[in-house]
Formats: sequence, C-alpha cells, structure tokens
Amino acid sequence: MSIIKNSLSPSLSDLWFLPLGGTGEIGMNLNLYGHSHSWLMVDCGSTFNVPLDPAQDHLENVKRHGMVIPDAQFIIERKDDLQAIVLTHAHEDHIGALLHIWPQLQVPMYTTRFTAEVIRRKFYREELYYELPIVEVNPGDELDLGPFTVKWLPITHSIPETQALLITTEAGRVLHTADWKIDDEPVIGNKFKKSRYKALGSKNITAMVCDSTNAPKTDDVLSEQACLNGLTQVVKAQQGRVVVTCFASNIARLVSLAQVAITTDRYMAVFGRALENMISIARQCGYWPEEVQVIPSRHIGYLPKHEVLIVATGSQGEPRAALAKLARNNHRWCDLEAGDSVIFSSMVIPGNEAFVDKITQQLKEREIRVIQQEDTQHTIHVSGHANAENLAQMYRWVQPDCAIPTHGESYHMDINAHIAQQNGVPSQLTGRNGDIFIIAPSPRVERQMIVTDRQPIEQ
Ligand SMILES: [Zn+2]
Ligand SMILES: [Zn+2]
Repeated sequence: MSIIKNSLSPSLSDLWFLPLGGTGEIGMNLNLYGHSHSWLMVDCGSTFNVPLDPAQDHLENVKRHGMVIPDAQFIIERKDDLQAIVLTHAHEDHIGALLHIWPQLQVPMYTTRFTAEVIRRKFYREELYYELPIVEVNPGDELDLGPFTVKWLPITHSIPETQALLITTEAGRVLHTADWKIDDEPVIGNKFKKSRYKALGSKNITAMVCDSTNAPKTDDVLSEQACLNGLTQVVKAQQGRVVVTCFASNIARLVSLAQVAITTDRYMAVFGRALENMISIARQCGYWPEEVQVIPSRHIGYLPKHEVLIVATGSQGEPRAALAKLARNNHRWCDLEAGDSVIFSSMVIPGNEAFVDKITQQLKEREIRVIQQEDTQHTIHVSGHANAENLAQMYRWVQPDCAIPTHGESYHMDINAHIAQQNGVPSQLTGRNGDIFIIAPSPRVERQMIVTDRQPIEQ
C-alpha cells in the first residue's frame, strides 16, 4: 500500500520477496528477500535475449544470442542495506550477471565450492579477481547474514552442489527451493534425500518459493542414469563419427558421455571453451572420475570414424559455437561426412528453435544424421526440473502456509500455484518481476512496485 511505496523498506515484522528477474520468465533470476530494513540477494543470473512477446519473434531484427541481465538499480541504490548475495547453483540463469552487477554492490558472496570456482573463473580477467569476497559454505551449513539465518540444503538438479535455502527471520521462514527435481540416480553427487524435506513439515514454513519450469509436465521424471542408458544405446547403433551436443554445465551428462565412449569403444574429445572450462572445474572439485579420459581435440581428426565421440557446445544453435562450425564444415579439428551423426542431448530453450533448425538443416543437407529426442524411443535428454508430481510431493512434505511460484512464465507459475492449492497449501501468491510479495505479517502481493527491465551485456 502507500506506506510501502513511500519507504520501500521492510520493518522487523515484515518479510518480503521481491524478484527483479526470473518471475514471469525463465531465465535471469535475481531475487531479493527483505526484512528488518535489510536485504538478502539470492542468485544473480543472465539469459538469452529471447523476446518475451512472440509477435517480435523473428530472426532478423533481434540480436538473440546476445545476453541480457536484470536491472538491479533498486538494490544498487540500497547496497548499504544488502547483507550478502547467496548463489544456489552455477547455471548462467543464476550467476551469469554477477560479473556486471557485483562490482556495483561489492558485498560478500556465499556459495558452495563448485559454484564458487565457476564464479571465480568469470572474474579471472578482472582486477577484482584477487579480492573477491566469496565465502565457501558446505552443504548443511547454517549462517547468520544480518537478520537472515540461512541454512543450505542439498537438492538434486542438473549441475553439482545445487542448494535449496532455508531462510529464517523473526517474521517468518522461507524455503527457497532453487532449481530442483527428485533424482534417485543422479550419476554424480548424492541422490535426493526425502527425509531432509519431510522434516521441514514440522518447521513452520511460512512460504515456499518454488521452481515452476516443468509444472505443466505430467510424464515421468527420469533420472540422469536413465539418460546414460539411453545415450549408450543410441551411440552403439551408429557407424560413423558421433557428435553429441549438450549444456556445458551438465557435468553428470559429460561424465555419462565419457562412460558411453568407453562402453562403445570410442575416444571422447570436447569442442568448445565452455566445455573445457567445466571439465577442468569438475576435475578440480573432485567430480570427474579419474579413469575417464578426454583426448586432445586436435587428435580426433586422425582417428577412424567409428572410434570418434565429440562433445560440442552449441545445442541452442549459437552461431559461433562448435556445433554451428561443424554444421558449416569449417571446424579446425574435424570435418563431418555423410553417415556421421549428431545427437542433441539437450532441450531447445523456447525462442531458439529457428537457430537450431538452421543447423539441423545444414547437417541434413550433407547427409549427416540428426537425432533429437523426438527421433528416438531411447532417452537422450532428461530435464533437471520438478514435474507436477514432484511439486505435489514437495508441497505435501513441507506444508508451507503459502506457495510463491517463481522460475517460470505466468502459465507455468499458475499451474504450480494450482498444484500447491490441490496439495493443502492454504494460500498462493502469483505475480511477476517488480512485484513485492509480502510473506509476513499477512500474505499479499503489491503489484509493480519496482521498475524492472532487461539490459543487454557485451560478450
Ligand atoms: Zn534456473
Ligand atoms: Zn538450474
């Protein structure tokens, strides 16, 4: 109400959730929690510049593979009241804006080791690299950050060390799920621990702020292990060279592919700097099995076709990535030929379809086989996000007083809210970036209190 508009500073009895990015869209998550005249930032991400308005969705007039970040002016103006930035995991939609926004805030960052290393390497060329205040926490740790007590809770997703957060204040307690799904066989890292989340049912959770990406999905949530099995079958059936494209940050998928190479008597090489960087971080943090070899990229062109497995960046059709070069037949280390195969072990982020189509066309014209999920009955990609059933399960375990769906477009978030309602959550708050979600003293949404926007960044 008007009191809020004048001060925009939460009192001791207030607990607010204020997303500046990632609510009403999938990408560039930047969340703020407000309590007792203090703020806590959770995640600081970037996204592809896919137009939110489908009417603008044609290739020519939009620089789509540029990246955009949230407008953080609101918190920059209040940086003295910002206690810390907590990063839940190392996906770009959660950490990709730090390089641009953190220098204007200069507050401590708290995260686990793997995510910390990914962040450090982003700042490698900056003077600030040597004095970055990154505090590494262990899963399960609990710390007081001003008036917020934050407990890190491991949760399964498609990148190591993803952490949900239990944020406790004098006004209320929030479970911030981060991105998650229930995975009993995640290939690397520990399986999802049900008891951890069941125990929250007796902890008086005021609000659960929850990932909505796959809320509309009702088909089974498959484990990373199922994907390993599927990829093994598909690669086994190929005669020529095999190229697999996937997200560089999906370490479990990369380990799986290295195991597929061993099982199918192929040598694995990686094309693309992002992949080399991620494998190096995985090695450093102990996630890369020692017995799993990656051969130097420059050697792969000399091997017989049936011994080749290349993992390439560019699953979203990015024109400068390795897969696009292979499709145009101008990659320095390898020329694909008729009879070779390209497997997409990834989903296409909405808006990137035309770029991916262009690449698949180029490959098909050269009689290179393209295998996307719809072309095979084997599982070659699994999502890292909770489906409707996972969400229902989590709401029944945690029993929050209020559900706040985030990490989705309004369609995804409305379905998530409906699932919460169906599973006994008394209130649900839906809104979008710039809305203040008042969690305590009593739940309501103050619409469009803050101006939000997307800002392009140079790469
Ligand atoms: Zn995300
Ligand atoms: Zn994620």
